[in-house]
Amino acid sequence: MNYRHSYHAGNFADVFKHLLLTRALVYLNKKPKPYMVMDTHGGIGRYNLSGEEAQKTQEFEQGILRLLEAQDLPAFTDDFVACVKQLNADSAPSDITQYPGSPWLSQALMRAGDRLIVCELHRDDATTLKTNLAPLKTQAKLEVLAPQDGYQALSAKLPPREKRGLVLIDPPFEQTDEYDQVVTALNAALKRWQSGSYAVWFPIKDPVKTAAFYDNVAALENVPKTLLIELMIRTPDEGSGLSGCGFVWLNPPFGVVNELAQILPFLQNLLGQSAGASASCRWLVEES
Ligand code: SAM
Repeated sequence: MNYRHSYHAGNFADVFKHLLLTRALVYLNKKPKPYMVMDTHGGIGRYNLSGEEAQKTQEFEQGILRLLEAQDLPAFTDDFVACVKQLNADSAPSDITQYPGSPWLSQALMRAGDRLIVCELHRDDATTLKTNLAPLKTQAKLEVLAPQDGYQALSAKLPPREKRGLVLIDPPFEQTDEYDQVVTALNAALKRWQSGSYAVWFPIKDPVKTAAFYDNVAALENVPKTLLIELMIRTPDEGSGLSGCGFVWLNPPFGVVNELAQILPFLQNLLGQSAGASASCRWLVEES
């Protein structure tokens, strides 16, 4: 386990993932009934952008800084931007030093009565995660399972007693069989909670692997309606580093699906690094 998210915190892929996460939470908050969020690969919760790792790659400059420096931001960015600003005491974009990870954003937006479960396997990151989340004094009930394999925890924790909520699966994809691990985990999870909303983040690097991943998700037994969302900041043959990422989203929230017609062109325009940038979505599995 060599992957450390600190090198990538706040990059284009985080902006994509975290904006969609905050939108899902906003829609979950529209109903009074409590819900659960399970974050299977939690990372460390918040990231120091002035630290050695983030400074080495400076990936956040092409991600969160682009967002904070943009003019006339659409209303769907409000909650995400507010969380980042809150962490940075309203500093100017070029002076921000803190970036919220997915568990931080969930904790910030969830309500009293809701429940957040966060897993992290890496031993050191598990300790940092616990320290980082503690000062927030969440309103939602917080369960940090760390060190803990997020895939194993899925089986133990589903179905949630609240019967509504979101599972975020955000692996590092450093192991060659990570796509298969995700499919196996989804297969087990669907047997326990078929109506759950599962957002799986993935990198777009190898078209053969991603195509096989899409096919394997679509072939899952009892798979619910599933949306495929892809963002490319350039074509794969241009430049080095990650050129795209996506979400496979089983049972995506209705409100988020409706908003994608505005969100995706916005992200393409904001984060694109060449004329080859694109953003799209299509149903991988239609509602039966
Ligand atoms: N979700 C986080 C966010 O958006 O702020 C970032 C997560 S990062 C991409 C992936 C994390 O998963 C790393 O911190 C890594 O240590 C952890 N990890 C790797 N394998 C895991 C596993 N099987 N279960 C739980 N965590 C794991």
